[in-house]
Amino acid sequence: MRNTISIKKDENIKLNNNLKAYLNPKYAFFKMEKGTKLKVKDGSYVYKNDIIMVNSDGYTVHSSISGIVLGIKDVDYENGKKTSLVIENDFKENVRIRKSAKKTIYDYKREDVLNLFEDFSLSYDGIKLVNLFNEEYETLVVNGLDKEIYFGNMYFTLRENTSSILEAIDFLSIAFGYKKCVLALSNGNSKIISAFMDIIGTYPNIELRLLQDEYPIGFNKCLQEYLGYTNALVIEANKIVDIYNVLKKNQPITEKIITVSGNAVEPRSCINVKIGTLLSEVFINNFDFSFKNVDVYLNGLVHGKLIDTLQYVIDEKVDGILIMKKEEKIESECLNCGLCQRKCPVELNPKYVRDHLGKVRHEYKDGCIGCGLCDYICPANRKLMQYMKEVQDNEK
Ligand code: SF4
Ligand code: SF4
Repeated sequence: MRNTISIKKDENIKLNNNLKAYLNPKYAFFKMEKGTKLKVKDGSYVYKNDIIMVNSDGYTVHSSISGIVLGIKDVDYENGKKTSLVIENDFKENVRIRKSAKKTIYDYKREDVLNLFEDFSLSYDGIKLVNLFNEEYETLVVNGLDKEIYFGNMYFTLRENTSSILEAIDFLSIAFGYKKCVLALSNGNSKIISAFMDIIGTYPNIELRLLQDEYPIGFNKCLQEYLGYTNALVIEANKIVDIYNVLKKNQPITEKIITVSGNAVEPRSCINVKIGTLLSEVFINNFDFSFKNVDVYLNGLVHGKLIDTLQYVIDEKVDGILIMKKEEKIESECLNCGLCQRKCPVELNPKYVRDHLGKVRHEYKDGCIGCGLCDYICPANRKLMQYMKEVQDNEK
């Protein structure tokens, strides 16, 4: 891959070494897509892990808490306002008795795994996991790189799940017949590297690849190109952990790690939360913060977006927020420096797209990975990525 850049970071922005947890939200919100059928009624009781709705594609949504269904409300998500089912927590974490999982993950056969992916509606980047794993790939690449600067979701995922990740990769390579399995890590994380080195000898079929801390190499498409595997399934390490947990516990995924970082928030931490929690609730209970004189970025500084409220629901698309002291960035005329095109990792021309809205040929826009590098490096502070997204969305 031709274009990666090393982004200079503020060394003072360091994450706390402890993974925090906030697993008792007062309410949980679950997005209702078009055509979703509810499986619960207002006032009814739900157990944690219960199916609460079925989407038009047959995929089920599971509750991350036990409690009472309050009704329906419009709330904000990373990709806009959506009608959502609201459940009020009874803080009991009640679950129904289910069939127990197999003793070890190696006791599952390929078909069992695909059935579990269906049962628990596992998906990745909007694609059903069952479809991804049904494709014939030669190589499985596990992406252990954080996408965003100052984010630690992947660091903590790797640190807390070292042996589970290797076991799951090993098992998947046997069950799905991958000829090669690669785990990509950042060469900047010496503790993580030694934790994996200590046990990787048990798994001779898994190759470790240590990569420079460059942007946007943590994006799957860039990583795949960088490693040079054409026929590969590239999947992030946190999804491998989800797969491991589903196999190990026979339960849906109800938690995820998010990052709260930046030079205007204390403490800077990664925090394990229930899916469906409002960001604002996590904040009120864990962080010292006000919106005064700060820029708040949902999902990070480079590819995230500026927000002015924390009323966002934490779903699969929310990885955290970065809170930085306010910096005045004035957008000015294009300088025709060509940087945005030269540095685009997939060789697009975002300046051209922005200047020719409505009459853009596909070669100028198709394939944008939303890395935000064009915005980040533009000396004129022009907003470019949003137009790439707009032209793509308009054509869907
Ligand atoms: S055009 Fe898309 S892929 Fe290229 S730098 Fe901008 S956001 Fe990244
Ligand atoms: S990087 Fe910014 S200033 Fe330079 S060509 Fe692109 S849009 Fe214009």
